[in-house]
Amino acid sequence: MGLAIFALLAYVAEAFPVGSNLAPANSSSSGETPSTDTIFESTNTEVDLKAIPFKEPGTIKLIVLDPGHGGKDYGAIGASGLNEKDVTLKVAKELQISLRRALGAKVLLTRDTDTYLTLSERTTFANKEKADIFISIHANASTRRAAKGIETYFLSYEASDNEARKVAAFENEVVKLEGKTHGAPTSEIEAILWDLTKSNAHHESSRLAESIHNPLVKALRGENRGVKQAPFYVLMGATMPAILLEVGFISNRKEERALARKKTHAKIADAVTDGMLRFEEVLNKASGLVKLK
Ligand SMILES: [Zn+2]
Repeated sequence: MGLAIFALLAYVAEAFPVGSNLAPANSSSSGETPSTDTIFESTNTEVDLKAIPFKEPGTIKLIVLDPGHGGKDYGAIGASGLNEKDVTLKVAKELQISLRRALGAKVLLTRDTDTYLTLSERTTFANKEKADIFISIHANASTRRAAKGIETYFLSYEASDNEARKVAAFENEVVKLEGKTHGAPTSEIEAILWDLTKSNAHHESSRLAESIHNPLVKALRGENRGVKQAPFYVLMGATMPAILLEVGFISNRKEERALARKKTHAKIADAVTDGMLRFEEVLNKASGLVKLK
């Protein structure tokens, strides 16, 4: 698996056709930004990462966190006006501190402000930095207002169920903003994805998802919707174990309220860190970290 595969994967990410039965993401590139100041409790994001006690890094040395959406891409929007792009950024910042503290690893964010990034820019960043782990953070949405709970995803060509297919379609919608119209032959895409699903990094992604999912469900006392697989473009180009978290439903009033709270962001951060420590243990018992070469 070399650069050619990565280039093809990036190409696939841009070229895949998109469809969704969910309410579309608010993707207006103009228009006013709904303020979240009254929804979020104030958070101190000006944390000096250098001031966090130093721990010698273990097997996992570099983690890239990807706060989903940003800028003109709002992601899902709750009934009270909470934007997914704001939740994902706040969770990522909490998690950055928590992981750094517990693992001693370097933790980078694909964005640390409200900026727009294409899906391929996110994984390209992780690959360029030679990250050991890539985690894309999202909040879920459904037209069924009662839908709630936590889902953890890793990449596959086939979605594990119909709901997973819809979630991937929703999260993939942003490619429409990227203005790409070219496409690759389906057989080529299938071959690449089939190749990828046989790789060690893919196997590690499934173990990473399992390690993080359970602590997350427990910490949030959320409905366990399971570890699932789906064709998320944002995971396609990653050459390291990569997962996507759906930390709750912004379309559910109760979960929207919870996702607005700093306390919830901290709970998510602690749980994911706990899961990451478990995964590191798994790696230590096995043959270490596997990346595509
Ligand atoms: Zn999302």
